[in-house]
Amino acid sequence: MNDKEKYQKLLVGPIERFDQINDMFRRAKYDPEWIDRAQAFYGPAQVQDKAGYTQEDFALQNSSWHLEHFFARGVHGSNHKGLYAWECPDPEGTCMSPDLKIDASDPAEVSKKVKKAARFFGASLVGICELNRLWVYSHVTNDVTREHTPLEIPEEYRYAIAMAIEMDYPLIQTSPTGGAAAATGLGYSKMAFVAGLLAQFIRGLGYKAIPCGNDTAMSIPIAIEAGLGELGRNGLLITEKFGPRVRLCKVFTDLPLVPDEPHFFGVEDFCRKCMKCAKDCPSQAISFGEKTTEALSRSNNPGVLKWPVDAKQCFKYWIANRLDCANCIRVCNFNKEPGWLHDLVRVFVKNAPWLNPLFVRLDDVLGYGKQLDPTTIWDD
Ligand code: SF4
Ligand code: SF4
Repeated sequence: MNDKEKYQKLLVGPIERFDQINDMFRRAKYDPEWIDRAQAFYGPAQVQDKAGYTQEDFALQNSSWHLEHFFARGVHGSNHKGLYAWECPDPEGTCMSPDLKIDASDPAEVSKKVKKAARFFGASLVGICELNRLWVYSHVTNDVTREHTPLEIPEEYRYAIAMAIEMDYPLIQTSPTGGAAAATGLGYSKMAFVAGLLAQFIRGLGYKAIPCGNDTAMSIPIAIEAGLGELGRNGLLITEKFGPRVRLCKVFTDLPLVPDEPHFFGVEDFCRKCMKCAKDCPSQAISFGEKTTEALSRSNNPGVLKWPVDAKQCFKYWIANRLDCANCIRVCNFNKEPGWLHDLVRVFVKNAPWLNPLFVRLDDVLGYGKQLDPTTIWDD
């Protein structure tokens, strides 16, 4: 069975398009059960006299989000403004003439240039797939207008360019404190920067482009279809190079491109043997059991064979912690810094799965995934 067939076997069905209002972060804004409780997380910083929660830590975290919060707002619903605008925000100024259109008769060549541009803007990984509308939200919310509206992406947008943005390794290792939250915030700001600029590049070629962060559509299945990685037990995309230590963004376009294919490298088998993320999750939100197509709550999308994450439990911990958590990224065996030894282990994970229990054990013995002292983020 090739990787594409393996992926299709996971789509057991029935699968319905997910309504964004059921996403846990949307529920925090729209679900009466959560609105008040979520204020402890979304409200003013709760500065403490404690490493990882100091004023400096919160300042770093808040500033890392600045570009996303004020120039994109992808996490605030889909308002199609700023860097996530669906059309050129300045057609008279920075856009090319609408009469200019490149010769796109060689989609392979065009795809090469689009990927090159994406990397130039800052994408750590980039892949292409046909846009599967199953992953486009059925409805979206808009925090500015408070509207909850149906969503359709026009038919001409045939392709999705999926991009992964690497997050800082040492800062993520301080999770669940301010350093890791800053690495996450910077990931979101970079997502908006990279997707917004790539969309503008495509418009400059004479084609349409819709840049998105977490708004508009589910990023993980699109990234899997574009060959960026596999879904792990922690509910995150696991990439071969960075593990789950990435954030995801995408651009939809009518520019003719050549799709990539799903790329599997042994994550499923490894996750069966390894339960490190489940053991280290402070809220017990990650499954120790088998994969299932059942949803735990309306914040999961049923019909896909996976380890469902209990989003409510997870978010309860974020509220108690007053900061977001990245423990399931920090401890993951696929989250490693570059190096020949880790590259070699990846080759064995892909080709010799019977060695996986040994690698699971070694990861613990060698102390990988332990929390770094949060004060180290300020070291030279
Ligand atoms: S973010 Fe933290 S609380 Fe949430 S699932 Fe991951 S480890 Fe658990
Ligand atoms: S920590 Fe282990 S079980 Fe969890 S996603 Fe990573 S490899 Fe899979």
